[in-house]
Amino acid sequence: MIIAVDGPVAAGKGTLARALAAKLGFAYLDTGLLYRAVAALTLAAGQAPDDETATEAVARRLSPADLERDDLRQEAVGQAASKVAAQGGVRAALLDFQRRFAQEPPAGAKGAVLDGRDIGTVVCPDAEAKLFVTASPEVRAERRYRELLARGEETIYPRVLQDLKERDARDQARAVAPLKPADDAAVLDTSELDSDAALQAAMQILQARGLC
Ligand code: C5P
Repeated sequence: MIIAVDGPVAAGKGTLARALAAKLGFAYLDTGLLYRAVAALTLAAGQAPDDETATEAVARRLSPADLERDDLRQEAVGQAASKVAAQGGVRAALLDFQRRFAQEPPAGAKGAVLDGRDIGTVVCPDAEAKLFVTASPEVRAERRYRELLARGEETIYPRVLQDLKERDARDQARAVAPLKPADDAAVLDTSELDSDAALQAAMQILQARGLC
């Protein structure tokens, strides 16, 4: 069984996807890490994230160990990742890795939860369950701001809100695999929900569809 969890930045999809996977005993893949790793490796090699020849070559060589880099959560890497993610060659290079994980989850898990932007629309269009997790830009920026401060990054709220809106616009407007809910996705707005309430709401959606 495959559960696709898509949505914009800081909507709570990662927390929810991880909690769903733990509850159901499924494997979990944060697909944003793939794009972040391509961006980080490109920047570390002194190449520009909009140099498509460079980024595609990096994407083709990506290994699971690259997903363990400790700079992947940096804001600059996230911004570069959303540029890299607009490139068709990079997306194609990362498709196989994601589909293989979904179809043959590691450690013999009986299912997989993947979170990202295009899991329900492109990577796993036949996923048994699709959730599109969202929240207002202000709530998402506030969450992101607190997360960055907790990590010791220096920033201000208006900057975080502006970056988030730019990233949303780029993710939604790109020609390849734009961010949007799949036609058969259940939309879950977490603006008023904490992580426990979001997990409960997601479980109710799965139960209503007879999936667990
Ligand atoms: O989810 P996260 O913020 O880590 O993703 C970083 C960037 O990677 C996003 O802004 C988005 O552009 C891209 N991404 C994507 N498709 C996915 C996952 C992430 O385009 N499935």
